[in-house]
Amino acid sequence: MLDADFFRRWMAATAAAVDREASRLTELDSAIGDADHGSNLQRGFAAVTAVLEKDAPQTPGAVLTLAGRQLISTVGGASGPLYGTLLRRTGKSLGDASEVTTQQLAEAFGAGVTAVGQLGGAQAGDKTMLDALLPAADALGASFAAAREAAEAGALATVPLQARKGRASYLGERSIGHQDPGATSSALLVAALAEADTTRGDGGSGS
Ligand code: ADP
Ligand code: MG
Repeated sequence: MLDADFFRRWMAATAAAVDREASRLTELDSAIGDADHGSNLQRGFAAVTAVLEKDAPQTPGAVLTLAGRQLISTVGGASGPLYGTLLRRTGKSLGDASEVTTQQLAEAFGAGVTAVGQLGGAQAGDKTMLDALLPAADALGASFAAAREAAEAGALATVPLQARKGRASYLGERSIGHQDPGATSSALLVAALAEADTTRGDGGSGS
């Protein structure tokens, strides 16, 4: 079972990964965007870490809805409302249980990813964060490791695509040949989930 502490570790591991990879994310965004994706997410997840420490929400759903709200209010770029919606909708779908199963998380995350598609109007293959999130949501029912691998493969697969949504779409064919920054950060978010699992007191699910 996954408790509030697991979800706090997920957010902390995401913040650490975003810090570690910030310059790479910004570099990717400088090729096909406006060079702020790393700093956007660094600011957002630092604020998430701070508010989770201050308010100490006690259920998985409350951790994610608070984190999502914080991203929406601190990140100005397109990615703030999109990631905020992902976490808020996932949190809402988890309800107010004190512990949830991996299967419940997989279903809730699927609902969160669907909400990202509704908000941004993007579909698979549009060269956005959804190209990592959709395969991850599909694989999450199998295991955290499978979701991480699916997200990483999805991010890599954005390289040959032409962007059809977001700032990169203004470049038309010139967006081809570059990895999408948002798909890359989504792979970090999903990898952090696998990391939170392996740092569980009981040694994790081993998946
Ligand atoms: P901005 O584009 O406002 O500067 P960021 O640089 O923080 O915001 O985020 C850019 C990323 O957001 C893109 O790489 C892409 O993955 C994602 N993105 C942009 N627009 C959309 C959309 N409509 N749907 C899904 N993801 C999107
Ligand atoms: Mg940008």
